[in-house]
Amino acid sequence: MNVIIFGPPGAGKGTQSSFLVEKKKMFQLSTGDLLRNELKSKSKLSEKLKKIMDSGKLVSDDIINSLIEKKISDSSIKSSIIFDGFPRNIEQAKSLDTMLKKYEQKISVVINLVVDNSILVKRISGRISCSVCKKPFNEFFDPPGDPAECTTAACIDRELIKRSDDNENTVSNRLRTYEESTLPLLEYYKLKGVVKNVDAMKSINEVTSQINCIFNDL
Ligand code: AMP
Repeated sequence: MNVIIFGPPGAGKGTQSSFLVEKKKMFQLSTGDLLRNELKSKSKLSEKLKKIMDSGKLVSDDIINSLIEKKISDSSIKSSIIFDGFPRNIEQAKSLDTMLKKYEQKISVVINLVVDNSILVKRISGRISCSVCKKPFNEFFDPPGDPAECTTAACIDRELIKRSDDNENTVSNRLRTYEESTLPLLEYYKLKGVVKNVDAMKSINEVTSQINCIFNDL
């Protein structure tokens, strides 16, 4: 079963995807993570990507679609993909449909994480994570505390990492991009009858259990 985890930046798509990876043995395909990996290569392309990402705009569909096709064509993860941060516009959704058809797969459900804009800015600008275990924290709502109480013994030497695009300036652009380009996609998937809404303003565990119920009903 393939799933799209949908919602604005800061809705908790990455956090909830980790739950599905752990509990349902699914594969998280986060285009943001793939792009951030690409940035580490320090190539000419990575300089261009960093500028776009730090401006809060979308990277070109060609780049994204080729990253995605590499994964959809991988038979070891066939029909167990969580699409996180993709598709981000109608063109990407149509390309996804074409690719899924080519590799004999489909989207079973779009989990729509619903959050008020008013709390997204704090959620995103407070976001930090452990450099060792990658566990996410929030400086305002869920501070990291003592490193000895993080996930692994090696976390004692952790650094707390903040994404370069998680700042208040970029956040408002990212939210605008979401509303203009990505939100209209919801209608596209509603017409296919696969959208399930989740109240993502509740605690992480409560959101996880709403998603669990959706999975149990499929
Ligand atoms: P995310 O980690 O999903 O918040 O993505 C971080 C940034 O990567 C976005 O603000 C975009 O600049 C870029 N990005 C991620 N996914 C996509 C996508 N599907 N299409 C275009 N750009 C993307």
